[in-house]
Amino acid sequence: MGNDKRKVVILGSGAAGLTAAIYAARANLEPLILDGIQPGGQLTITSEVENYPGFREAIMGPDLMADMRAQAERFGTAFIQAQAESVDLSKHPFVIHADGASFQAEALIIATGASAKLLGIPSETKLMGHGVSACATCDGFFFRAKHVMVVGGGDTAMEEATFLTKFAAKVTIVHRRDELRASKIMQEKARANPKISFIWDSEVVEIFDVAKGSVTGVRLRNVKTGAESDMAIDGVFMGIGHRPNTGLFEGKLDLHPNGYIKTHDGTKTSVEGVFAAGDVQDFVYRQAITAAGTGCMAAIDAERWLEARAHDAATKAAAR
Ligand code: NDP
Repeated sequence: MGNDKRKVVILGSGAAGLTAAIYAARANLEPLILDGIQPGGQLTITSEVENYPGFREAIMGPDLMADMRAQAERFGTAFIQAQAESVDLSKHPFVIHADGASFQAEALIIATGASAKLLGIPSETKLMGHGVSACATCDGFFFRAKHVMVVGGGDTAMEEATFLTKFAAKVTIVHRRDELRASKIMQEKARANPKISFIWDSEVVEIFDVAKGSVTGVRLRNVKTGAESDMAIDGVFMGIGHRPNTGLFEGKLDLHPNGYIKTHDGTKTSVEGVFAAGDVQDFVYRQAITAAGTGCMAAIDAERWLEARAHDAATKAAAR
């Protein structure tokens, strides 16, 4: 791989990155996608997607992403299986270093997404998609009339728990302290919901039953007393937050205090010619369809920016 120069480079291949690629490719911008850490993005770790418009029946997350990728390829998007390691946004064209190669980009679309934080216990990974989830909107529907657990004490946990009460018979929130971090309004909503109860000062240390391949219960540890107890449960939702994948951009782009990229006037970032789409800049909606929507916006914003730049350069040249 040499010092490839592109009109548009897209970082990330989830719903935002692939939609940006479809639009950029159809605008003859010959985009290059660097796949990133999780090709296909967060949808590749979900099962059935029932809320992405256009599908009468549920579509599997990985299938949806494979179709989006094929669609982007059809219009000439180039893909490289690499993860950006550093970016130089201080000069133009921008430079991206990845896997020993460097790429120049006239316009850069950042769609590196966010990753759900997990507890880091082996049973959680093994049962992910089989009763363990990090997305109530995606998987809540499968827990009709069940007893589910939500781990966490912030707004995400309150929102997930409240959403789950639409389906579940009972929702138990497990928090590692005796005080919630969530905003007052979200706390009040959760506390007032008769289907929601709380277990305080406790951590989930084990999820059962890996051998059965489905969730049947959890082992809790009281962090104050150290006492452990087992509890039967049908599903466990991780609501301990998301981490935007923005480490590369710290000090280079304006970020919100929670680490997400700040955008203005659509998908523009604090550096001209750099656009951000999807979960890397969205900590409110975080849906596949909103990621795709902002991906489309980023491609259109990039196209217009490149056109205006070319027009300015031509005007200046004619005036000389
Ligand atoms: P937060 O960081 O606010 O909260 C994370 C919660 O998970 C905390 O209660 C934390 O505990 C707990 N936690 C973190 N790691 C662990 C762990 N390893 N084990 C057990 N518990 C853990 O993240 P959120 O995703 O809730 O919110 C992020 C941002 O997004 C906030 O600004 C929030 O306001 C916003 N948001 C807004 C929404 C809305 O307005 N509709 C919806 C969702 C999020 P502890 O408190 O002890 O640190």
